[in-house]
Formats: sequence, structure tokens, C-alpha cells
Amino acid sequence: MKEYEVYELLKKYGIQTPEYAIFEINQPLHFHSFPAVLKIASDKVVHKSDVGGVRVGIDSLEELEAARSEVMENLQKHGIFLDIHDRFIVEEQLSGEEFYIGGIFDAIFEEVLLFGKGGTLIEIEKDVCYIDTDANEDEILRSFKTTKISRIFPSFRGHQYRIEDVVETVRKFQKLFIKEDIAEFDVNPLLYTERGFVAVDARLKRGKKASRKCRVRSHDLFANEAVAIFGATDKKEKVGYAIAKNALQSDAKVYFVNPHLESLFGQKVYKDIDELPPIDTAVIAIPARFVIDLVEKLALRGVKNIVIISAGFKESGNKEAEEQLSILAKKYDLNIVGPNCLGIYNGERDLNLTFAKSTITPGEIGLVSQSGAVLAALIDKASAHGIGFSHIVSMGNMADFDFADAIETLAKKEHCRFINIYAEGLKDGKSFLRAIRAAHKPVAVYKAGKTKEAKKAAFSHTGNISGDYEMLVGLAYAAGAQIKRDIDELIFSAKFANFNEVLIITNAGGPGTILTDIVVEHGKKMYKLSREEMARLDAVLPPTWSHNNPVDIIGDATAERYQAALQILHRPNLLTFVLVTPQFMTDGLAIADVAAEFENTVPIFFGEESFGEVFAYCKEKNILCFNDLENVANIL
Ligand code: ADP
Ligand code: MG
Repeated sequence: MKEYEVYELLKKYGIQTPEYAIFEINQPLHFHSFPAVLKIASDKVVHKSDVGGVRVGIDSLEELEAARSEVMENLQKHGIFLDIHDRFIVEEQLSGEEFYIGGIFDAIFEEVLLFGKGGTLIEIEKDVCYIDTDANEDEILRSFKTTKISRIFPSFRGHQYRIEDVVETVRKFQKLFIKEDIAEFDVNPLLYTERGFVAVDARLKRGKKASRKCRVRSHDLFANEAVAIFGATDKKEKVGYAIAKNALQSDAKVYFVNPHLESLFGQKVYKDIDELPPIDTAVIAIPARFVIDLVEKLALRGVKNIVIISAGFKESGNKEAEEQLSILAKKYDLNIVGPNCLGIYNGERDLNLTFAKSTITPGEIGLVSQSGAVLAALIDKASAHGIGFSHIVSMGNMADFDFADAIETLAKKEHCRFINIYAEGLKDGKSFLRAIRAAHKPVAVYKAGKTKEAKKAAFSHTGNISGDYEMLVGLAYAAGAQIKRDIDELIFSAKFANFNEVLIITNAGGPGTILTDIVVEHGKKMYKLSREEMARLDAVLPPTWSHNNPVDIIGDATAERYQAALQILHRPNLLTFVLVTPQFMTDGLAIADVAAEFENTVPIFFGEESFGEVFAYCKEKNILCFNDLENVANIL
């Protein structure tokens, strides 16, 4: 499409364009107002200024004719010869701040807008944000505020910038992109003038888009009254053994199925599915070639929740079998988790249907992970720190049940207070964003694969500057998710996410200062001691104590001194660190016990050799503790 044709399309959606006139190549040029701009409009030219196809600052008719000769000469120098299909555009010259807006049809997120600072350096500056076509006003603003250019709003160097104009203009482009058959477009610059945003350049590629259909699920994945484990075995090296063993700790009914086994853990083993009592959930850990058949049989028996642990599907080239699973899921309205996954955990029943080695305890975090290995590692860490889970879903290959389904499911669960996601790649971006918006509880996302490689598309700036990582985190953040850059935060930060103020009680000044820096850098405030608290502390601490937070209670501090300080300062709404360095008289075990008496109080034993016994003790007692300062950032 030629620039002026795009202008006409923009106008239909209320987007402002400059006044312009179109001329055939040999027609005399004229225009009613100056200064004016002359541009070439030709399908042979993509970036007009690169080939000398734009002249600005034209002040008279004579200058206009001179500009035409100049432009034609420039084009010839670049080997471009004009013909009867080409046109000149003369348009009014406007002035203002240069913005940019573009849109691409992404394989994951479908229609996505990019908006930010315009000009010739956009590929280098990349001061842009991502906006979903479904984003409302709040979301548009949240996204826009991540750009540097947004800081000129509401006023900068004597100029006024109305944020409402941003929202209004973006909304018009959202509408345009959704309603028209557009594969890709960009407007650079989108000038912010006295009359608001005006598109003074526009490039657009037509193309039909196929939207995905969203599945509505009618069964709860975590309705697990009666579970059958297919492939339960007495062979310790097999996953079927670990799952069977883990599952038994629950009060849910758990049945084992294996044609070659009589009994397992003192329980009867069923020969096949036909013998089984009624179940609502099946966990499958049998060879891949038998899985499809079994899933169909389960579906015919009305079993809705099917967790496929077995590998040997898409990840090993077996695409057809995986496709088959997806078809069965739709046909029978199933929740199929996996294949190739670690399993699920249901904290409401303490039902562990995973083959994770570490113990999982009930708690408040809903954890969703695309990688089984990462999940196993996180569970292991959580177990060492006494952190529990309301639900866990190992997504595996996501033949059916995907991130959006997991978020929607966990959003409805009272026990789940945090939805924490480890994602490598999504299948359906729009439904993922919809689920985040609708969750109404904190959703945290860690995205692996921060490839710097942007998508390659020569057509527009938009294609050149949008990268997978930036797009996913940009859109998820705007939709309301917190973006985590450290994977440990998925298990640690949830617990203390709502604490704004921090108290540090320490037996050494230096580490206290380092920890203060970490606390403040992570946006938390240091609690200010009141006069009354100071006076009470004076009565129990040595006179040289710091009289400040961090409360340095001096190197010879005993467990009793930590306790005395805590009794005066402790508040349940304060995140309190008991920082301990190894001194001659330090009794780590006793201090761990003291810290455990007080809510939301986390001991940090800063050392190693001297605290070996203490770490083992904390693990055994499920006391969350740290052995260094930097890692503390994970819970802030
Ligand atoms: P290109 O195809 O090279 O992107 P543009 O139409 O964007 O061509 O014009 C190049 C530059 O000229 C713009 O980035 C802008 O700075 C300036 N320009 C173009 N049209 C106008 C206009 N109507 N008013 C003010 N400046 C303009
Ligand atoms: Mg341009």
C-alpha cells in the first residue's frame, strides 16, 4: 500500500494525518500552505529517506519544483526509475516530538503493538514498549511507563504532554489492527504536535490472520478424589515407583495399575483399567506407545484428569502421537497434563503425584513449570527452607493443558495465594495474558531463553526490534504479572511479597550495612525505631549498640540478647532478619530457636564452617534461613 492509501485507512479510525495532495510524476506540483514536505510514493521504495526520497522545509512553489528535480535525481542515483504507477505527495509540515507506533502479527501473541520513541535511531535506541490489542487504559499506561520517552509526560522543558492522548491514540491503532486485515505496519514518526498525535509516515502490509480458538474447560484438574497410577512398580529406579510412593502419603484414594505385579506397598495392584474402581484422575507412567490407547479408554470411562509422565512424544520427534493427545483432549473434554512431565501436586490433599525426590509440603504457592528439572530443583530448595505449595503443575510438552489453563485453575483455588510460573515458550499468548488479567492474585513469571536475537523482518522497524523475551515479559508485565529475573524468587519472594518494611538485628556492623543496601535496592524500606523502642533497648543492650536499624547488638551477642531485642521490636508485619556472624561466643543453634519463635523472622547465618550444624538443624525443623547475604534478595 502507498503511504497516502494508508493515510486514508488511518483516517477511518480517527487517526490524524497531515493534509496532503497527490500528483502524478510529470504533473506540475502545487500546495496551499508552507512549509511543506515532498515525498515519493512508490512500491519500489521502502525507506524513502534512505534513497533521498523526502524533502522537508519547502517554503514556496519554486522550492517545491526544485525539490522534485532533486528527489528524482537522488532516486536515479540509487537506480530507481519512476513510472506511471508512482506518485509524489506534498504534505503539510508539522512539528513535534517524534514517536513511533507499529504492529506485528506474532506467532504466539498474534496482534501486538509497539509504541515508543520514534526517529531514525529506533532500531538502536529501542525505547519502545509492547501493548496487546486487548489492553485497556491501565494496561496501556503500565506498558508505556516502562519507556524513557514517557517521562516527558505531563510536561517537559515548557511543553505540555497529555497522557490521555497516548491512550486515545493507542486505542485507535488497536481497533485498526484488529478490524483490518493487516500483517504488519509502522508509523514512524508519529508526531506529537499541538493538535495531538499525527501520523506523518505510514507503512502497512496487508495480510489475513487466523485467530486461535480458546477452549473452555469444564473440569477441575485438582478434583482428585480417586487416583490411578498406571505403571506403578516395585523397581526403585523407575519413575512409577517414586510416584506410587509419593502418592501414598495422601488421604485421597490411590490405586496402582501394573499387569506384572500383585501388590505394592502392601496394597493390591490392578491388572488393567477394566478392573479399577471409579477414578477421576489418572497418572500415566508407561511406555509412550501404549499411552494413546489408554487415554482413549480412560476418556470412555469418564476420567477427566490425565497426567502423562511418559516421555517419547514431540520432544523425541513423535509429533503425531502428541497431536493425537491434543485431539483426544478436545474430543472428550479432558485435562491432559504433559506428556513428558514431572507430574502434579495437590496441596489441599497433600497429594504428591510427581516423581520428585524431595518432600513437598502444603503451603501457599502455586508453582507452574515448563521444565521438570527446574521444578525438581525448586522443590528441593523449597523443602530445605520450609516453603510449601498449594499446587504444582509440571507442564511438560503442553499437548493440551497450557499456561493459561494453569493460571485459570489456580486463580480459583483459595489455598493458592501466589501463582508462580517458570516459562520457556508459550503456545497461545493472548489467552495467557487474559488469564493473568483475570487472576486477581499475584502472578510471577520467570522467562527462560533471553535471546538477544530479534525477529528478522525487513519490512518494518517493528519486525526488527521485537524480540521474544522482551515481548513476553513486556506484555505479561503490562497485563499485571511481576517479572522475576532470578529463578529462586519463584519460591522465595512469594512468602514475603507483601512486606514493605524491614528490620535487621545483627551482631556485626559491616554485614548489616551490606544487607541494608540489598533491602533498599529491592524497594523495601528500613523500619525506623521509635524513641520509646530506643529507650527500652538501652535497658537491655550494651551501651555501644547502634541506636539505629540495623540494630547492631555487638559481636558478643548471645541468643538471649537477640531474644531481648526481638521482644521489644518484633511486629508481625515487619520482615525481620536476624543476622549472625560467627564470633567466639555465638551459639547458632540457640539463635535459630529464638528466631523461630517470632513470626516472619528469618535468620541469616553468614559463614559456613561454624554453622554446618545449624544449617542441618534449620532444615530438619523447616526453618527458613540463609547462609549468605546476596541470596536474601530472592525473598525481597
Ligand atoms: P521514511 O520512509 O524515510 O521513513 P518519512 O515519511 O518518515 O520517510 O520521512 C522522513 C523524515 O522526514 C521523518 O522521519 C520526519 O522527521 C520528516 N517528515 C516527514 N514528513 C513530515 C511531515 N509531514 N512533517 C514534519 N516532518 C516530516
Ligand atoms: Mg519514516
